[in-house]
Amino acid sequence: MANGSSCADIVDPPGSEPYLLTPGPLTTSPRVKAAMLRDWGSWDGDFRAMTATLRRQLLELVCSSGTVEEFDCVPMQGSGTFVVEAMLGSFIPRDGRSLVLANGAYGQRIARTLDYLGRSYRLIDKGDYLPPRAEEVARALDEDPDIGHVIVVHCETSSGILNPVEEIAAVVHARGRKLLIDSMSALGAIPLDAAKVPFEAVVSSANKCIEGVPGFGFVIARKEALRAARGRSHSLSLDLHAQWAYMEETGQWRFTPPTHVVAAFLEALGQHRAEGGVSGRLARYVENRDTLVEGMRALGFETLLADRWLSPIIVTFFNPADPRFAFQHFYDLMKGKGFIIYPGKLTVVDSFRIGCIGRLDASVMRRVVKAVGESLEEMGVASAAPPASALEEKARLAA
Ligand SMILES: *Cc1c(COP(=O)(O)O)cnc(C)c1O
Repeated sequence: MANGSSCADIVDPPGSEPYLLTPGPLTTSPRVKAAMLRDWGSWDGDFRAMTATLRRQLLELVCSSGTVEEFDCVPMQGSGTFVVEAMLGSFIPRDGRSLVLANGAYGQRIARTLDYLGRSYRLIDKGDYLPPRAEEVARALDEDPDIGHVIVVHCETSSGILNPVEEIAAVVHARGRKLLIDSMSALGAIPLDAAKVPFEAVVSSANKCIEGVPGFGFVIARKEALRAARGRSHSLSLDLHAQWAYMEETGQWRFTPPTHVVAAFLEALGQHRAEGGVSGRLARYVENRDTLVEGMRALGFETLLADRWLSPIIVTFFNPADPRFAFQHFYDLMKGKGFIIYPGKLTVVDSFRIGCIGRLDASVMRRVVKAVGESLEEMGVASAAPPASALEEKARLAA
């Protein structure tokens, strides 16, 4: 079971390999790494059985016994963006109109993908700090009866904001529209129950909260939606209906599967279960975040987001106002101490991010905070306090 700071099988990465405090690729366990030391034939029965196990176990993550018959899981080669594109191109009719809810880079990427696909959409863009809320979604749907699908990002990884998917799903469902969820950086750690949150499809990928390595993504979708997607996709390789139909018929992936990645992912799924599934994983990530945020605040840092919207996935901190602080220098000092951090991805203020996911626990997070303190000292930064303008902006938007 999850037990936060004393997770027995969490060990330092081998050799001089740093911890990745990044939201995927992330630090994986020795067992996940070791699972990749064998070659598999993609056509072979053993590998087909692995694909079947993977699909079933992923389905069970979001579907309890009552809903498991209504949904299916289809893995797709590529990074997460490939499977988002596959979902949009397969489930939204060519003449369909959508509502995109954006509050960061991944929501904006969804809109760009629809531009490429030539699908019409309306955009609600909340900027960097704020979540889309049920009332404004309801209003947009009432104003725009042509909208058939709503697309939401579960955890917007560019800021770390955890969007209120449940309340959005409720208004979308009440108005007879369909919800597509990009749960890339949340699935496996943030609960999502198909019996409670009505959705059409959700996507995620191998290298986020399940703690596998990069190489494929997957969609968990209503079988009805998969059936309806026949012949709709703009793309040969990203056609979810074709991948699903072929897998159902042959047990194989349509084109070369990332065999080693699949083997590693099955090991990661086993460790996910051993930790207590979604609730066990969430407990460890929450403790990681709380340890990090408390330690960073003690050093004088401020989070971009109000506590209410802080996810246990990744946290954005404002850069200190002190002119001696330079992100690249800070990054190099942190790397020298064994920790890879992430630059910010905001449109307005300077910031950086530290991830809470991957094979790490609260004791690692305490070392991260210590390394941050030492790095500031080495840079001659006396105070980690952000510029007043960043705090004013945060206060203004929270009001
Ligand atoms: C990681 C991520 C993606 C996919 O990014 P890739 O670089 O293609 O793997 C999409 N949406 C969100 C919210 C993500 O965190």
